[in-house]
Amino acid sequence: MSQDLFQAPDYYQLDDLLSEEHLLVRAAAREWVKRAVSPIIEEAAQQAKFPTSIISGLAEIGAFGPYIPEEYGGAGLDQISYGLIMQEIERGDSGVRSTASVQSSLVMYPIWKYGNEAQKQKYLPKLASGELLGCFGLTEPNHGSNPGGMETKIKDMGDHFLLNGAKMWISNAPFADIAVVWAKNEAGRIKGLVVERGMEGFTTPETHNKWSLRASATGELIFDNVKIPKENILPNKDGLGAPLGCLDSARYGIAWGAIGAAMDCYDTALRYSKERIQFDKPIAGTQLQQKKLAEMITEITKAQLLTWRLGVLKNEGRATTAQISMAKRNNVDMALKIAREARQVLGAMGITGEYSIMRHMMNLESVVTYEGTHDIHLLITGFDITGIPAFK
Ligand SMILES: Cc1cc2nc3c(=O)[nH]c(=O)nc-3n(C[C@H](O)[C@H](O)[C@H](O)COP(=O)(O)OP(=O)(O)OC[C@H]3O[C@@H](n4cnc5c(N)ncnc54)[C@H](O)[C@@H]3O)c2cc1C
Repeated sequence: MSQDLFQAPDYYQLDDLLSEEHLLVRAAAREWVKRAVSPIIEEAAQQAKFPTSIISGLAEIGAFGPYIPEEYGGAGLDQISYGLIMQEIERGDSGVRSTASVQSSLVMYPIWKYGNEAQKQKYLPKLASGELLGCFGLTEPNHGSNPGGMETKIKDMGDHFLLNGAKMWISNAPFADIAVVWAKNEAGRIKGLVVERGMEGFTTPETHNKWSLRASATGELIFDNVKIPKENILPNKDGLGAPLGCLDSARYGIAWGAIGAAMDCYDTALRYSKERIQFDKPIAGTQLQQKKLAEMITEITKAQLLTWRLGVLKNEGRATTAQISMAKRNNVDMALKIAREARQVLGAMGITGEYSIMRHMMNLESVVTYEGTHDIHLLITGFDITGIPAFK
C-alpha cells in the first residue's frame, strides 16, 4: 500500500464528547496502526497470512482485554476506549481487529465473567500480554445462525470429560494456544470449556481459499475423544446465554470497528477525488462524486453518534442486546456500502492493492456475516420491538 495519509473525519465535532483518556488511547492506537499495520497489511492479505509480527504491538496498545481489570493484566479501560481501539485497528484491517476482538471479547471475557479465580489467574495475564492467543468455538458445520442446535458434546467420565464434535469458521484457530469451546452435556445444557493445544485428539486444520479477511487465519476445531480436565470447565454460567453474552461484547466492538473501515474508505476516496483530473477538473468537482462523498460522511457521522451513545449506555450497564444488534447491523452495512461507493470513486485504481478500499470491502463481507448475520440482527430488532420471535 502507498503511504498511509489517513485523516479521521469528525464532521460533528464529536471529539468534544470524548474524555482526555479516550483521546489518548485513540491517538496511541491510531499512531500504532499507521506505523505497524499499514506498511505490512496489504502484503499479508495478498499472501493470506496472519502477520504475527503485530501481536506484541496489539498487546501494547491495550487491544487484548481493554476493559479487563488491571489485576488480570487487562488495560482497565472503559467501553468507549475499547470501542475506539477497535475502530482504529479496523481502520487498518478488519482481520487484525478480528484477532483483537476474539482475544478480548470471546476468550478473555468468558474466562473473566464465567471462570473461577484459578482460571482467571492462569489464562488472563498471558492472554493480555499476547503470550497466549485464543479462539472461540461456537459455529458448527450444521449450526451457524442457530448455535443452540449444536452437536458438539461433553460426556462426564468421572474424573474428566470427553469432548467430541467439530467447529468451523473459527478465527485464529490454526495458531491459537487455547480455545473457548461451547458444547452440550448429557442433559443438553451448553457449557463453556477451555481446550488447550496439544490435548490428544484436538486438531485445528486451516480453512483456505478465502477472498475475505485474508490477513486473519480461519480454521476448524476437531475434537476426537479429547480428555478435558474438570478444572477446564467454566463454572459460573451455562446455557446459550453464556456464549451470547460474549457475542454482545464482541458485536459492540465490531460496531465501532466498522466505522474505522468506513472512515478509511471515505478519506481515501475524498483525497483521490480531489487529485484525479478528468475532463480538465478534479472529479471531486462533479455532482455525481460529491453525492457519493456527501452521503458517505453523513452516514459515518450518524454511525459515530449512534455508537458513542451505545458506548455511554454500555459504560452505565444499560446497553441491551438488541441495541448492540442495531449498531452492529447498521454500521457494518454502512461501511460495506461506503466501501463499494468509494471503490468506484477510484475507478480502476480502486481494485488494486495500492489502496485499502477493495481489501476493506472484501473483509466487510465476512464482518456482515459473522457474529450474527445482517438478517439475524434485523430479526433481533424485530423481536425486540414486537415481542414476537420470527426466527422460525
Ligand atoms: C471469516 C469468518 C470468521 C468467523 N469466525 C468465527 C469464530 O471465531 N467463531 C465462531 O464460532 N464462528 C465464526 N464465524 C462463523 C459465523 O459466526 C457464521 O458464519 C455466522 O453465524 C452465520 O452462520 P452460517 O455461515 O452457518 O450461515 P447460515 O446460518 O447458514 O445462514 C445462511 C443465510 O441464511 C440466513 N438465515 C439464517 N437463519 C435465518 C432465519 N431464521 N431467517 C432468515 N434468514 C436466515 C442468514 O442470514 C444467511 O444469509 C466466522 C465466519 C467467518 C466468515
